Amino acid sequence: MVSDDRAISLSRPFRVLIVGGSYSGLSAALTLLDLCNGRLARFNYTADAKPPNNQIPIHITLVDERDGFSLASESFASKTWIQFADIPALQSSNIQLIRGSVNSVNPREKIAHILDLKSNHAREEQYDFLIAGSGLRRAFPTVPQSLLKEQFLAEAKAHQRNIQNAREGVVVVGGGAVGVEVAAELKILEPWQKVTLVHSRDQLLSAEPLPDDFKERVCAVLREVGVEIILGQRVIATTASTTEGDRQIWQLTLADQTRVKAGHVINAVSKSVPTTSYLPQEAMDTEGYVPIRSSLQFPEGIPNADHHFAVGDIATWAAIKRCGGAMHMGYYAANNVHQLILSESLNVKPDFLHLADAPPVIGLALGDNAVSYTSADRTQHGKHLLELMFGDDMGHSICWNYMRLSEPCKA
Ligand SMILES: Cc1cc2nc3c(=O)[nH]c(=O)nc-3n(C[C@H](O)[C@H](O)[C@H](O)COP(=O)(O)OP(=O)(O)OC[C@H]3O[C@@H](n4cnc5c(N)ncnc54)[C@H](O)[C@@H]3O)c2cc1C
Repeated sequence: MVSDDRAISLSRPFRVLIVGGSYSGLSAALTLLDLCNGRLARFNYTADAKPPNNQIPIHITLVDERDGFSLASESFASKTWIQFADIPALQSSNIQLIRGSVNSVNPREKIAHILDLKSNHAREEQYDFLIAGSGLRRAFPTVPQSLLKEQFLAEAKAHQRNIQNAREGVVVVGGGAVGVEVAAELKILEPWQKVTLVHSRDQLLSAEPLPDDFKERVCAVLREVGVEIILGQRVIATTASTTEGDRQIWQLTLADQTRVKAGHVINAVSKSVPTTSYLPQEAMDTEGYVPIRSSLQFPEGIPNADHHFAVGDIATWAAIKRCGGAMHMGYYAANNVHQLILSESLNVKPDFLHLADAPPVIGLALGDNAVSYTSADRTQHGKHLLELMFGDDMGHSICWNYMRLSEPCKA
């Protein structure tokens, strides 16, 4: 990599360990590759920005339990699951891809213990900087659970079969952001299917810090795309009532004792849990999120906190977790790692990027429509927004192109 006279000579490359190869981890890896090769970071849109003066030897280890990058969507992921080995931007001698699970991290020693899922062997990885971007653990079936593309395709097929065979309709329990998108997605998958969304509160998205008119618009659009909505009813029991051949029929009992039959039930209620069990307890809050500083560094007091970063959904920052926020955090964290590398190599003061406050922003794809909210534009909706925010694949191509994943890595 380091070939011209801008190259900083070091006894060994800086080692950066990235946990998680999704939106936040990938944007961190790509930013580091750009900057350490003396290029402007691909996410830097500052008008007068200049590329770094130096090239720096770097070795990035990117660990993910999955074998590829994909959307958090059971219905679309079959089209969008791309194995890491097939992502041109990652094919670099500066990146080592490990399919593995990070089991523990010792920040004092800067060592991670990883279970290599290919060989099933434990390994130790020494690092100079850690960027943790391992996201949230979400329950099946709202999010694909498979770790391998092949397994996933089978999982997606089974999911689709369950939807198709559900003659008594599909009930989605939980009207949060995931539940409403899942319900609408089912109407795209099988437009003829009866889809019912049951939510315990009187308003959808009741836990989100969003205005009432946004929540009401989401409800109206969902009804327009054909989703039946039951509000203000908690599901108190779900029992398998009868079986027809290999088909199970479910009966849901609501708080007012109403019974709802379903051929398939999707639970979108269970809370997402941060996947941070590999980090020391002191680095997390009581719910397992990492209370980062605005530089994305771990909270002070953790050994070597300045060399540890958390990005994406596991970090406490934005009230609403989004892909865009995750990519933004990956970029900022990697920029700040690069600044620390320059500082340690050239004895200069690091010039960090700091996260600004993140007011609630959301965009929901609801069938052939979309509803969005930003503090500037307030609530908006319409089919044109769907195309603008999600394209025709739930935003996969937009994120893919934004990260420039098709561009072969330049040395
Ligand atoms: C159903 C659904 C719909 C959504 N819709 C939208 C939307 O429309 N717009 C939007 O902006 N956002 C949406 N989101 C949120 C968005 O998906 C997240 O904000 C985003 O994925 C966060 O990215 P991340 O990189 O932090 O983590 P993730 O995307 O969760 O990725 C984490 C990665 O880390 C890996 N990993 C986890 N633990 C370990 C470990 N111990 N060792 C190694 N690897 C590990 C995982 O395999 C995974 O690849 C949606 C989420 C869901 C569930």
